[in-house]
Amino acid sequence: MPARIAELQRLGWLSEADAGLLAHGGHVLLTSSADKMIENVVGVFGLPFAIVPNLLVNGRDYIVPMVVEEPSIVAGVSNAAKLSREMGGITAASSESLLAGQIHITKIGNVETALSALGEAQEELLAAANAVHPRLIERGGGARELETHLLELSGERAAIAAHLLVDTRDAMGANLVNTMCEAIAPRVAELCGGQVALRILSNLTDRSLVNARVQFQLDETVRDGIVLASDIAQADPYRAATHNKGVMNGIDAVAIATGNDWRAIEAGAHAFAASSGRYLPMATWSVSADGALRGELTIPLKVGTVGGTRDVNPAARLGLRIAGVEAAQELAELMAATGLLQNFAALRALATSGIQAGHMKLHARSVALSAGVPDALFDEVVAELTAGGEIKAWRAQEILAEKQDKARTGEGSAGHAAGKIILLGEHAVVYGRHALALPVSNAVVATVSAGGASLHPPEIESMVGLIRRELGIDEHYSVTVSSALPIAMGLGASAAFAVAIVRAFDAELGKGLDDAAVNAIAFKCERLAHGTPSGIDNTIATFGQSMLFRRGDVLEANPLNLNEVPPIVIGCSHTTGLTRDLVDGVRSRRERNPGHYDSIFDQMDALSREGAQALQVSDYGKLGELMNVNHGLLNAIGVSTPELENMVSLARAAGAAGAKLTGAGGGGSIVALCPGKVEQVRAALEAAGFRTLELDQE
Ligand code: NAD
Repeated sequence: MPARIAELQRLGWLSEADAGLLAHGGHVLLTSSADKMIENVVGVFGLPFAIVPNLLVNGRDYIVPMVVEEPSIVAGVSNAAKLSREMGGITAASSESLLAGQIHITKIGNVETALSALGEAQEELLAAANAVHPRLIERGGGARELETHLLELSGERAAIAAHLLVDTRDAMGANLVNTMCEAIAPRVAELCGGQVALRILSNLTDRSLVNARVQFQLDETVRDGIVLASDIAQADPYRAATHNKGVMNGIDAVAIATGNDWRAIEAGAHAFAASSGRYLPMATWSVSADGALRGELTIPLKVGTVGGTRDVNPAARLGLRIAGVEAAQELAELMAATGLLQNFAALRALATSGIQAGHMKLHARSVALSAGVPDALFDEVVAELTAGGEIKAWRAQEILAEKQDKARTGEGSAGHAAGKIILLGEHAVVYGRHALALPVSNAVVATVSAGGASLHPPEIESMVGLIRRELGIDEHYSVTVSSALPIAMGLGASAAFAVAIVRAFDAELGKGLDDAAVNAIAFKCERLAHGTPSGIDNTIATFGQSMLFRRGDVLEANPLNLNEVPPIVIGCSHTTGLTRDLVDGVRSRRERNPGHYDSIFDQMDALSREGAQALQVSDYGKLGELMNVNHGLLNAIGVSTPELENMVSLARAAGAAGAKLTGAGGGGSIVALCPGKVEQVRAALEAAGFRTLELDQE
């Protein structure tokens, strides 16, 4: 995902500020703001925020923001958008955008007299409505017409519905129009010689119709399948409902992403679909004279780019910036285009392979994600899950275990390595103070075998090259790495990869390297990747033991003997921190305030040493307090982030004795010490969307 954001920024679709908001979750509505929007708020609810590239509408390129939880919708629109470009994209148009406010009058003395009185007073009523919103007139909008409808109620009663048609410019207009209706309702009742019953807008916004058209050049069988599906929807309201649901899949997702009232849109769309007295499909498909598939959607869309809750919801404002629309009517046209393409994608899937296959593939990806399948094996596990048809978390874990076993015991040789967490003392260690680090056991397994294809992240290609040169290997070997550690999360993944690969080569070639030799090669790999590494990561990766470190001219490493694996939960944030930048930042701040910084580092030093003693006697209460103090100090030197603070608070609220960021900060991970509360803390972090790990990956 970070790569996707960076690419959008590079292509100029996202500003640097918006890319930063997305990368750090800064666009998400705060609970405190949510509390001001509606009643009885207890939190904020998340949904996936995606984009569709390549949409060409009326000759202009768009990136469409979509917020939706259902798999395949974004993929469907994206493919359709790309395909539609071959024949010039989508043409969308709307001739007017008026919202009707209704004033219902009952108990009318003489209906005929009432209707003619309203007709005569039209100008007076429009002026009275416009007087309520002078700014709207300045913006070129305002009340335009007054229509009247005679209604027959039950019991032979009559009612008049006076429709005030208002050009609301870039606002959806519900509140604007309601205020106007309330203002003129008493006069309308007086003119009718009746009583006011209701005064509110209508959501059947058929004076804001948008029309979108598209053509596709398709294989004849698929084309005819789509036309047949369209004809069936025309004849069968049961099918038309699902057909229209497909259209709304696209439209609602854009509506939510841009802060629009999707219930209003839904109500209008379905009322319009049934306005002939029969529920009909809103999008229809036919074959053009030149044999192309021709699609057309007509739908009422009264949407806004201003007003509503946009001022409080930063995600809606971001959605609008991504859509890049200048006016509400342009947004309505973009929505109609998206709805038409989504309808096409659904019908094409139905007419060809069936819609379920696409759904299942995406479902398999979320199942694999929830089963904790590591990146290196992710695509393989998803492929097997989909092929097997049993798309369940237990099956994903079974496939993963089979693959990891193969990596350990299959042909070729395996090497293991540990990941690391810094429990206390990061940053201070750069200035000669102590740091306490623990291994994440069995975190990485590498396998090498002669021939075959490699399966490892492309980022470690240069590391594999260096190891081969160090070991003098010319022949082709495939290198496969299976890792429980996310990369660039402050958990020592790169050092663990290096150690595991060196050990696997050593086992395969019988070189007889001892741990010191393995460690030395891994340190060279770390230098290649990080410039001036401390040496802690490769040492822990090699020896897999808890250690108290101090960096003088050489790295002093004092192993600790622990009675048990400490009850630690690691939580991974959504942001990677660049160690080098963070260390540089601390350095320059220290140069400005050497006294303060050095005394903080001294405190961190004491925390690491006391922490090592507490750890050895499993005094987790004490150790947790030391971790909390250390986190406060790390915050003080400017390496924490709002996301890390949130994670630390979540862990503590779920019962952790201590929680702090680990590693360089600026993103990366947190560690929480959770005696008796491992499950609770893990569940709290996962419920908030953070991936977790424990200290022993076996
Ligand atoms: P709003 O009440 O926020 O009014 C829009 C504001 O934007 C006005 O103050 C207007 O002066 C200002 N504005 C600034 N620039 C403008 C421009 N270029 N064009 C037009 N106005 C501009 O919003 P609204 O659109 O009147 O109402 C929308 C809200 O009403 C939605 O949140 C919706 O959920 C809610 N609502 C809907 C219904 C319904 O659909 N039945 C009923 C009641 C309320």
